Amino acid sequence: MRAWENYIRKVVPYVPGEQPRGEHIIKLNTNENPYPPGPGVLRALREMDTDVFRRYPDPSAKKLTEALARYHHLPQDQIFVGVGSDDVLGMAFLTFFNWEKPVLFPDITYSFYPVWAGLFGIRCETVRVNEKFEINPEDYRRDNGGIIFPNPNAPTGMFLPLSQVEDIVRHNQDTVVIVDEAYIDFGGESSRCLIDTYENLLVVRTFSKSRSMAGMRIGYAMGSSVLIKALQDVKYSYNSYTMDYPSIVLGAEAVKDEAYFKETVGKIIGTRERAKKRFEELGFSGPDSLANFLFVSHERVSAPEIFRALKDEQIYVRYFPTPGIDNYLRVTVGTDEEMETLFRFLEAYLNG
Ligand code: PMP
Repeated sequence: MRAWENYIRKVVPYVPGEQPRGEHIIKLNTNENPYPPGPGVLRALREMDTDVFRRYPDPSAKKLTEALARYHHLPQDQIFVGVGSDDVLGMAFLTFFNWEKPVLFPDITYSFYPVWAGLFGIRCETVRVNEKFEINPEDYRRDNGGIIFPNPNAPTGMFLPLSQVEDIVRHNQDTVVIVDEAYIDFGGESSRCLIDTYENLLVVRTFSKSRSMAGMRIGYAMGSSVLIKALQDVKYSYNSYTMDYPSIVLGAEAVKDEAYFKETVGKIIGTRERAKKRFEELGFSGPDSLANFLFVSHERVSAPEIFRALKDEQIYVRYFPTPGIDNYLRVTVGTDEEMETLFRFLEAYLNG
């Protein structure tokens, strides 16, 4: 080994879901939205003045921050935007989780959390969810250097009621608590209202799921002005121009179209509820998801076997070979037509 190789930072990277391309693929593996962004976004894209690409974008992404501040009835200094919520969350790990004490998160959760902890040298400890994948707020009443969990949780889709989120925040006012609301728009109740009471609470959102813009990479955080200023200081110490001009303009446009947003989210919720019944009829069970995906396990056939059979049919779902969830599949809610194709195949495969 050459000497310099000893000095290379060694990390265990996050493994993103596959991004297969092709005409006949049914892609239900990375929780994207099956519907396109709203017509206002398309219009703004067509009218975009590309001459501005010569210039650096606004480092404060004011246009987008303003739109989000209006949408959430918050002052602008309580909003931080970033390149997808992964960027916002990574920045938040770096900014807030630098104690000697361990950061806590559920043992079954978004697999990027331990990766950021590893990358930034942050101590962490996982807190077990119960056999129904439920988070128990009382388990978070112990010394810690910060807390983070998604609500609804991923990959289970389980929603933690607001009173229980508040219980966790109330008992942990000496450290920063982050609620990752990537999937909140699909039926859960947001913790946004709690940030008026708790200065140590950061609520993180994304445009990748409910707003159909995973490809634009837009995420944001809401919290007290003290938390937002701290995030901004770290961002400006790393890369000031994180968000590109199109993301700022098109993101702001997306926030304006509430009617389209409600329509597409409503369709996904309807499809999800019908899909729950179909899965049950086929012998699957799983937690009662309030996200845009279902987490299901079959009574007879193993998850990896079904995963492979689906892939052979060009139907992509997500499988995690992680102890505790290695007999489950995470299936993103697609259009009704996509789900129909999935169920028709599963019916034939499982009964044939
Ligand atoms: N949080 C959770 C719980 C997620 O599942 C995802 C999607 N991988 C993200 C955050 C990140 O999403 P994005 O970076 O696209 O905003």
